[in-house]
Amino acid sequence: MPDGQPRYKRILLKLSGEAGVGGDGFGIDPKTIQAVCEDIAQVVHAGVQVCLVVGGGNIFRGAALAESGMERASADYVGMLATVMNALALQASLEKIGVYTRVQSAIPMDSVCEPYIRRRALRHLEKGRVVIFAAGLGAPYFTTDTPAALRATEMGCDALLKGTSVDGVYTADPKKDSTAQRYETLSYQDVLAKDLRVMDASAVSLMRDNHIPIVVFSIRERGNLLRVVKGEGVFTTIA
Ligand code: UDP
Repeated sequence: MPDGQPRYKRILLKLSGEAGVGGDGFGIDPKTIQAVCEDIAQVVHAGVQVCLVVGGGNIFRGAALAESGMERASADYVGMLATVMNALALQASLEKIGVYTRVQSAIPMDSVCEPYIRRRALRHLEKGRVVIFAAGLGAPYFTTDTPAALRATEMGCDALLKGTSVDGVYTADPKKDSTAQRYETLSYQDVLAKDLRVMDASAVSLMRDNHIPIVVFSIRERGNLLRVVKGEGVFTTIA
């Protein structure tokens, strides 16, 4: 493949609620969304088909609500609805800059967005629309990592890109340990055996079983998404 060309035809981009929408505080930060959407637009204009899964941690995480006393399954439904809010915010911001999108929710809410229908999602991608998958799996006791892995598999993605606030996977938390070193590559087995907590184990094993690489990179640096899609810049590949 010639230099400067995208390595992938179709990707699934997984963003945490904080990295994708929330910035550093609670709720939705318009500047964060705008910057992330401009990066996504660059990749779409480069001809890459983009699936998007966004978390809800900038609003509510089920596990945290459960710790404060709410019944776990109900708390997780609150978390899933938070991902729908983030999906709608990303959709509005992407469409403002001319990127066509569809939101599909695993919990049907017809007056807000489409329900998740695999074949319809595939058709949207073929037409160059960004498909934003919301409400996770529609089932409690998961985070959005596993739905990201499942949708990447169902959509036949060439890679799952995990955009975080750190530029890859490190031997220790680089924010706390200055001697921490970044891995260039890891195997799925390394991630599972060393309990590196890059993604939930169920998501990593789904990617392993379906031979889809996971690329961990920083979404905080502008223009980085396109660089990573071209195989340039700094990231960790799990394959
Ligand atoms: N969630 C769920 N099932 C799913 C996906 C998400 O119950 O299939 C809930 C869960 O409570 C989770 C919350 O939605 O904590 C928000 O997602 P996540 O924690 O992945 O957000 P992120 O950390 O990526 O911002």
